[in-house]
Amino acid sequence: NPFVAARFLLSVAALPQLPAPDRPEIAFAGRSNAGKSSALNTITNKKALARVSKTPGRTQLLNFFEQDNARLVDLPGYGYAKVPEPTRRQWGKLVGGYIETRESLVGVVIIMDIRHPLTDYDLQMLEWTQAYRRRVHVLLTKADKLAFGAAKNQLLAVQKALSELENVEASAQLFSSHKRTGCEEARKTLSGWIED
Ligand code: GDP
Repeated sequence: NPFVAARFLLSVAALPQLPAPDRPEIAFAGRSNAGKSSALNTITNKKALARVSKTPGRTQLLNFFEQDNARLVDLPGYGYAKVPEPTRRQWGKLVGGYIETRESLVGVVIIMDIRHPLTDYDLQMLEWTQAYRRRVHVLLTKADKLAFGAAKNQLLAVQKALSELENVEASAQLFSSHKRTGCEEARKTLSGWIED
């Protein structure tokens, strides 16, 4: 497991507080409750790695996990409910600004609940990754909630939508934190980004 050594480094509320860009960073994005913390824990094989991102006061921050050769960055999500405009603006400034300007960012993982992919949140993330030419890998998580045929159909539909986007190199796969489906595939894609 290439991510077993990841440890919490710090939380950041504004771009000037970012740590030195001295190693490749992979960002994890996803609507609240999509399964992002579970996916981070599964990929790193640490039961509670991303629990820190859920502690009060940290849910709207960029949370950094670090090991010698890479960092994983847990980006804040938001829910289905209409987000108040000032909160959304603040979120956009932090997350959009990070994706735009971070020189060490090598790719963005977008976590989508396989039953509700391509939410407004996901479309906003994809827009930024297109605008700033960031590589994307989508984990369609909670794949265990669907029969295999239905899961495969969702994957094909999302792959089709991604292939129609211009200026973005975007792949997608099935994933389940509960069953560990797709964990090796995800690790392989992400270690490929680090080594590039
Ligand atoms: P986050 O808000 O995106 O970090 O989401 P969490 O990782 O906290 O997961 C939200 C809910 O979805 C929790 O109740 C998890 O147990 C559940 N969940 C997460 N991943 C999976 C999965 O792969 N399969 C199933 N069945 N449930 C999952």
